[in-house]
Amino acid sequence: MRRLVVSLCSFALVLVSLTSLSEAAPPDVSYYSMKLPAGMTVADLIRDGYDVGHGHGSRPTVIATPSEVGRLRARGVVLGKTGDVYQPVPRSEPGGSTYYGGYHTTAGHEQHNAEVASAHPDLVKLYDVGDSWKKVKGQGGHDIQALCITKLASGDCALTSTGKKPKFVLHTQIHAREIATGEIAYRWVDLLVSSYGVDPEITALLDTRELWVVPIANPDGVDVVASNPSRPVLQRKNLDNSAGGCPAADAGVDLNRNSSFQWDVQQGGPCDETYPGAKAVSEPETVAIQGLLDAIFPDTKGDVGEPAAADTTGVMLSLHSFGNDILAPYGYTNTDAPDKAKLVALGKKMGQFAGYPVSTGDGGVGYFAPGATDDWLYGTRGVPAYTFEIGPPSGACAGFLPAYSCVSSTFWPALKPALVYAARAAAAPYGKLPVTSG
Ligand SMILES: [Zn+2]
Repeated sequence: MRRLVVSLCSFALVLVSLTSLSEAAPPDVSYYSMKLPAGMTVADLIRDGYDVGHGHGSRPTVIATPSEVGRLRARGVVLGKTGDVYQPVPRSEPGGSTYYGGYHTTAGHEQHNAEVASAHPDLVKLYDVGDSWKKVKGQGGHDIQALCITKLASGDCALTSTGKKPKFVLHTQIHAREIATGEIAYRWVDLLVSSYGVDPEITALLDTRELWVVPIANPDGVDVVASNPSRPVLQRKNLDNSAGGCPAADAGVDLNRNSSFQWDVQQGGPCDETYPGAKAVSEPETVAIQGLLDAIFPDTKGDVGEPAAADTTGVMLSLHSFGNDILAPYGYTNTDAPDKAKLVALGKKMGQFAGYPVSTGDGGVGYFAPGATDDWLYGTRGVPAYTFEIGPPSGACAGFLPAYSCVSSTFWPALKPALVYAARAAAAPYGKLPVTSG
C-alpha cells in the first residue's frame, strides 16, 4: 500500500511538470492563406499587429492563433489553413551547437567559422564587423562575423573596395526565425573550403572571386529562436527593446527595414514585426552590415533614378523565408529601378536553378520593404542585390521552421547552383552573363 502511494505521487509530479512545460511553450499557431476584403491591404494587417508574409505570386500568408483567426474572419478575411508551424523533432536541451533537429545555433556558427578559418588559413579570413544590440548593452550578445573566402593573394579580402577580385556576398538569417537561410550559408562555406583543388568550377571561383559570407546577421535573435530547441521561438527582429511599451516577445527592430536607403517611419510601431527603428541605422547590426558593404564595394551609382555604371562588379544575395521566389530592386516602390531590365535578367538566370520567379516592387500584394539591405546596396552602390525567399508557400518544407531534412532534400540542391552562378556573374553582372549549363 505504501509503495502504491509513492508511485502515485511520482506520477502526479510528472503530470505537474508536463503541464508547466506546455504552459511555457510558444502559442498554438498555424499558417493560413488569406483573401482580403476590398479596401484592406497586407500593410494594414501588419500595422494592426498581424504576422503576415509576402506571398508574392500567391496569396498572402498569416501566422495566427485560433483567437486571431476569429478576429480576422470577423473583419471579412477569408482564411484557409495551409500548414502547421512546428514539425515534430526529437527533444533536445537548449544551449548546444544545434537545435530543432540539426539547425545550427549562433554558437554553432561561431564555432564553425573559427574552425574553417583555422583549418584553411590560405582560403579564409574571418572578420568581426560589429556588435549585436545585446553586446553593445553589455548583456552578453555577439560579434557580427563575416568570412571572406578566396585563394588568398596579396590584397585579397582586405576589407576595402580596391581588391582585384569581384565580390559575391551571401547574407543570411537577418530575420532570425528564417532558420533555413543560415544553414545555406553554413553549407556554402563548407562547399567552398572543401572543394579548392578538388572541384574545377569551385577552384576557379576561389581563384578569381572574393566570396563573402555573413551567416548570422541577427545573432541575438537566433539565440531567442534556439532557446526552445523543439519549438523554436518565432523571433524575427533583433532584441532592441529601448522603444518600450511592448511585451518582451514583440519588442525589437526589423533589421531589414533599418538601412539608410528609403528608411520609412510608417513601416510599423515598436511592437510590429516590421518596426524600422527610431531612425535609419539605429541598430548596431545595421551599422555592421552596412559598414561591411560600404567598405568592400565602390560607389558606382548616382541618385535613386540613375543607373549603375555598366562595369559595376559584385552581386549580393540576402536569404529569407519563404515563398520560393526572388525579389529584385527596388523593393520599396513600384517605380522601376533604372537598371530593372538587367536586374531581372540576372535574377531569372539565378532563379532557373530553383524554379523561382522574379518580381520587383510589391509584386502586386501591397507589401513593400523600404530600408531593406538589398535595396541599400543597389540603391547606394549600384551592386545588384536580391532577396531570395527560400521554401514553398505551403506543403512539405514550407514555412519559417521546416524540418531539418528539407535543407538536404530540397533547399541546398536548389540553392547551390544558384549561388555558384551568382558568384560567377559577379565579374560583370550588367554585362554578358555567364552561360548556364543546366
Ligand atoms: Zn525575412
